[in-house]
Amino acid sequence: MSKLMEVFAAYKDLSFTDRIVFYTTLSNNVNVHEDNLQDFLIETRINDGNTCIYCESSHVVKNGKRKDGTQRFLCRDCKRSFIPRSCSITSGTRKDLSVWAQYLKCMSDKKTLKETAEECSISVTTAFYWRHKILDALKEVTDRVCLDGIVEADETFFNVSYKGNHKKSRQFKMPRKAHKRGNDIHRKGLSSEKVCVPCAVDVDGISFARPVKLGKVSSECLIEAFGRIISPSAILCTDNEKAYRTLARNNDIRLIQTDSDKRIIQQNDITYDIQRINAYHSILKGFINRFHGVSTKHLEHYIIWNNLISNNRRNQKENISLMFGQILSRRLTVHNSDISARPPLAFIT
Ligand SMILES: [Zn+2]
Repeated sequence: MSKLMEVFAAYKDLSFTDRIVFYTTLSNNVNVHEDNLQDFLIETRINDGNTCIYCESSHVVKNGKRKDGTQRFLCRDCKRSFIPRSCSITSGTRKDLSVWAQYLKCMSDKKTLKETAEECSISVTTAFYWRHKILDALKEVTDRVCLDGIVEADETFFNVSYKGNHKKSRQFKMPRKAHKRGNDIHRKGLSSEKVCVPCAVDVDGISFARPVKLGKVSSECLIEAFGRIISPSAILCTDNEKAYRTLARNNDIRLIQTDSDKRIIQQNDITYDIQRINAYHSILKGFINRFHGVSTKHLEHYIIWNNLISNNRRNQKENISLMFGQILSRRLTVHNSDISARPPLAFIT
């Protein structure tokens, strides 16, 4: 087999995400241009026009073009007609992909809904739904991170916010009296009005965090959050919290806990502390605060967003290109109503 054939054969075995990395690495022009995008979509989603987007049959034929020049395909087996972006979160939105590209740039710049809506000439409502559709598609990327080396972990807390559940809802009943805006919650301690978010960050700055429950951290929720994320070869570094001991035992991870006073531990000439995770907490808090009251039901999405930006050390153009590739190649349809209907404390498993 020639070298080229070997490369082609290997390429066919790659996952969608790896194909995107491969494609964007090879392509000199990682700018999100429409010409480049159509090729990319046809290549990654429908295997050069040889695979049906719905049933994966290979009996696919070209079926004319749309007014805007987009190639249409027809599957001879399931008889369905499709275009390269069908069955993605961008299908059915009637907006050009260049608007989505512009939108991703705004997300990468951490812009608010109002700023984004203005820049992309879309409504604030559309901007809101797009944000959550994109984060639905990108969740998989952050869920697959693997933290290794010295991994610092600690939980942080956010006030529960039932924002976005009241209007037009017959089912939703406020579980407590509303807090006036700007008033902090007075009840002391880790009450049921605090969302517990275990966070971890490794030596390369790769981070992971997830809202898991209300109130104090537990070993069950740590195992649930970190079980598949922290490599067994990692050295986990935490404060004196007991729940981390159970996690470390359960997952066979080496654990070093800081002294409750000094918060720094020396072992074999290596200093272990939890400064990196403390820094991560303040970055995350700062990010969430930009949006003036994130609803608890969407908190996980905002954490994913924060981590995507901070986990990627690439330049912004490459970053957007990768994000775009990921959201377009995912076979995922999310309706606006699915996003609004999410329960207020959906994250609790
Ligand atoms: Zn088909």
